[in-house]
Amino acid sequence: MPPARLRLNDGHMIPQLGLGIWQVPAGSTRDTVASALQMGYRLVDGAAIYGNEAGQGEGVRASGLPRDDVFVTTKVWNDDQGYDATLRAVEASLKRLEMESLELCLIHWPTPSRNLYVDTWRALIRLREDGRVRSIGVSNFMGDHLERIIGETGTVPVLNQIEVNPRLQQAELRDLHDRLGIVTQSWTPLGQGRSFDAAPVRAAAARTGKTAAQVILRWHVQLGVAVIPRSSRTAGLAENLDILDFALTAEEMIAFAALEEGSRCGPDPMRFG
Ligand code: NAD
Repeated sequence: MPPARLRLNDGHMIPQLGLGIWQVPAGSTRDTVASALQMGYRLVDGAAIYGNEAGQGEGVRASGLPRDDVFVTTKVWNDDQGYDATLRAVEASLKRLEMESLELCLIHWPTPSRNLYVDTWRALIRLREDGRVRSIGVSNFMGDHLERIIGETGTVPVLNQIEVNPRLQQAELRDLHDRLGIVTQSWTPLGQGRSFDAAPVRAAAARTGKTAAQVILRWHVQLGVAVIPRSSRTAGLAENLDILDFALTAEEMIAFAALEEGSRCGPDPMRFG
């Protein structure tokens, strides 16, 4: 069963489940991406800073799938923020990917201390107008950052990619996204395995015959968010894709909600960069 798709606020669709490639070594990215796409993934989440865009592009071509069937994401790194620098950075990403255009480009972090994210956003708007990028969004933006770029440009990001896992559920920011028409996409969705042994996770895994990782990914899907787990192992890729033939009960969703503790695996977006 292919992953479900969510509608973005610009009318385009995004696969709800995709592959993340942070820390996938450049030398093996091509093969990881190609085998993921061949087994049913349709989205590959990369970034300039991951250093593996060339392999990301090669993997898409090596998969044998029509280019239009694959959703490719990259991100503008902090050092490339600012209007002209962002235009150049995205052109450099397209060159490394060996692609004419891509489906989604995100601002990787707001880096508020630089105060360049509005100019960076204007550059993404321009790249979308020029057809280099089909949809534009952000990552790690807090409510204030979202409201500022929308207020100053009138353009609402299609998506905000943020850390979400059972220990950091981001209910408030997800509510804001829903009000603004922004898709939430969860990074580090498995939360470094910190909830694999939690009682509600173990109970749901035992009831469904699924693994802890699968019930956590299923929880993301049932929250209605998009999710991009990473695995370099073929078995792990297949396991993370195999989450569509079962459902968590309402009681299990409530039990997962109680795992919230507001603790991050990654940096605080207000300070990072
Ligand atoms: P993840 O939650 O996907 O976990 C990856 C880790 O879990 C790896 O060590 C992997 O070996 C292990 N794993 C994967 N599948 C498993 C399974 N079925 N059972 C047990 N262990 C399993 O973490 P991540 O890579 O940090 O996040 C996913 C993606 O999100 C990244 O690859 C990247 O694309 C994106 N990301 C974005 C940002 C951002 O700032 N925008 C930050 C971090 C990650």
